[in-house]
Formats: sequence, structure tokens, C-alpha cells
Amino acid sequence: MSKKKINKLIIGTNNKGKLREIKSLLPKSIKIYSTSEFSLKSPTENGKTFKENSLIKSKYFSKKTGLICLADDSGLEIDFLDKSPGIYSARWGGKHGDFVKAIRRVYKELNKKDKNWKNKKIKARFICAISISYLNKKIACVVGKVEGYISHKPKGKNGFGYDPIFIPVKKRKTFAEMKPSQKYKMDHRYKAFKKIRKFL
Ligand code: IMP
Repeated sequence: MSKKKINKLIIGTNNKGKLREIKSLLPKSIKIYSTSEFSLKSPTENGKTFKENSLIKSKYFSKKTGLICLADDSGLEIDFLDKSPGIYSARWGGKHGDFVKAIRRVYKELNKKDKNWKNKKIKARFICAISISYLNKKIACVVGKVEGYISHKPKGKNGFGYDPIFIPVKKRKTFAEMKPSQKYKMDHRYKAFKKIRKFL
């Protein structure tokens, strides 16, 4: 690990919401660049794991800009569906990121697997991998997870993605029923950022 402090970074995402969220989690002393300043497309995420996909993104954007790059990859794993949607979490929402559609697919797959799935506890977890790369070299790569269960039906209006169907362990509410401030402190992204902070 390099002892030199990082004083500028590009965030390897073309998602504006993600960029804002990541910026808020980084030390204010770091100058942040976004991919829009360089008009860059996103690379093909053809890795097999969240870690691999986050590294594909951080290396790609670093090589394109010559800056150190931080990128993430995240999604939902459902044990009963052999860890699907996993790295395909965004893709289950289709081209337009329609999460009503993605959630419908989750319930369809659960019903296909077992009509009585509601009698079981369907274990799931959100995962977030964050990596920092400089050109083709990995500087750091960490993973944050939050364990939970799939709700019998979607509940709540907050958050995004699969939040309405995910109940974290020891809680009774879905992420979408919680205040953003409550979700934020327990989620996979926050846990991964806590781990990556020492590399910044
Ligand atoms: P990525 O942009 O390739 O990392 O895709 C992440 C996808 O995983 C999102 O589009 C969501 O479907 C899902 N996801 C990741 N984090 C969360 C979360 O905190 N709540 C709900 N869905 C999430």
C-alpha cells in the first residue's frame, strides 16, 4: 500500500445519483473529478464478481484519464435463487432501470422455484465492492455487505432499486420504509467506504 495521500480522484461512474452519494462519503480535502468532465462512456462489465466489475471500471477510467480512480459495483444476492440477481442486479431492471420490473422478476423467480416460498425465510444480502486503481494497477479493493431477508411484498417509498423488498436482519422494516439517514448508516456502501477510507 502506498503511504502517499491521494489528493485527487476521478469517480468511475456515469450515474449522477451515485456520484453525489460517493462524493458525500469522501474526505472534503480530495479534489473530485467526474466522468462527465471527460465525456467517457462506461466499460463493459464482464467480470464474474462485484470485485472484478469494480476493478474493470476503476482501471478503465484511470487509463482513460491518467487520474487515480475510485469505482464501485453493487447488487443484491438472494440465496434461494442461487445468489441471483447478483452482478446482474441493474440488468434485471432492463435498459431503463425499471425497478418495478426487477422486483416483479424476483417474485416470479421465487414462485417458480417454490410456490410456498413465503413459508421460508428467504435470506439475501446487499453487496458493494469499491476499488481504487491507478492505470492498470489495483491500489485497493474492499467489500461491504448487509445481511437480510426478502419481504413477502414490496413495502415503502424511499430509496431505490430493490429497497422495497429488503429487510435487514434484526429489523422489521424494509430499506424503503426507513428514513434515508437510517438506511445509510447500516448499508453495504457505507460499510465498504469505512474500509476504503484508510487508503485515501
Ligand atoms: P451498479 O450500478 O452496477 O453497481 O448496479 C447496482 C444495482 O444494484 C442497482 O441498480 C440496484 O438495482 C442494486 N442496488 C445496489 N445498491 C442498492 C441499494 O442500496 N438499494 C437497492 N438496490 C441497490
